[in-house]
Amino acid sequence: MPKEQVIIIGGGPAGVACAIQLKRNGIDPLLLEKESIGGLLKNAWRIDNYPGFPDGIGGLEMAAKLLGHLNRFEIRYQKSAIQTTIYDEGIFLLKSGTKNFTCDYLVIATGTKAKHTAVKNSFTEVFPLREVTGKTIAIVGAGDAAFDYAMTLSSHNEVHIFNRGTKIKCIPALLEIAEKQKNISYHEKSMPGDSFDYTIFATGREPDLNCLSKE
Ligand SMILES: Cc1cc2nc3c(=O)[nH]c(=O)nc-3n(C[C@H](O)[C@H](O)[C@H](O)COP(=O)(O)OP(=O)(O)OC[C@H]3O[C@@H](n4cnc5c(N)ncnc54)[C@H](O)[C@@H]3O)c2cc1C
Repeated sequence: MPKEQVIIIGGGPAGVACAIQLKRNGIDPLLLEKESIGGLLKNAWRIDNYPGFPDGIGGLEMAAKLLGHLNRFEIRYQKSAIQTTIYDEGIFLLKSGTKNFTCDYLVIATGTKAKHTAVKNSFTEVFPLREVTGKTIAIVGAGDAAFDYAMTLSSHNEVHIFNRGTKIKCIPALLEIAEKQKNISYHEKSMPGDSFDYTIFATGREPDLNCLSKE
């Protein structure tokens, strides 16, 4: 097992930006990603706030650009879900279950995880449902993610957003677009029953530090 100088855990925008800048500084990092490059951006309907993209850019398209950026600089990345990290005598040991890695420096760019635990036919991201058509889908939540997920799904499905309270926490620009979509309905002070094909919980996220050992 050859020791790496720098390992980055997480292939979202933060991990990719870190990898690019290290490589340009003459350091050859190894990037480990448990799913695919792009991180949470893979869920975004349209990214409208990145300077340099005046017409906005779709989340999947942006994720592909991140991958292209890694490839352009010949940055090494591997699909690997790190489960444990141990720091001992100046060296990090990372375990994925099937493979171990060691490095001198570790960058943790693992982003966030959903607070809600998804069960059968329910999800916490829209990415797995991107290809679904003709379904009736409930989204629980009333923030940016809920309305953004609704925009992604409403072109081919009937979408219902459920707010258990009355306050909408979505940015006005996105809310204005979503309100114009005929396939999106909004319900206040209510939760979905079991008549929906799928339910997505967009009810908040917290830092994902599962890759760190408990000690
Ligand atoms: C629906 C939606 C729409 C959005 N729209 C916008 C927008 O328009 N504009 C904007 O600026 N932001 C937007 N965002 C927010 C943006 O996606 C995040 O701010 C950004 O992705 C955070 O980047 P990150 O690299 O810190 O984390 P993440 O994107 O979460 O990436 C972390 C990566 O680490 C990986 N990882 C985690 N744990 C491990 C492990 N143990 N081993 C290996 N890999 C691991 C994950 O699989 C993931 O790929 C949106 C988010 C969502 C959900």
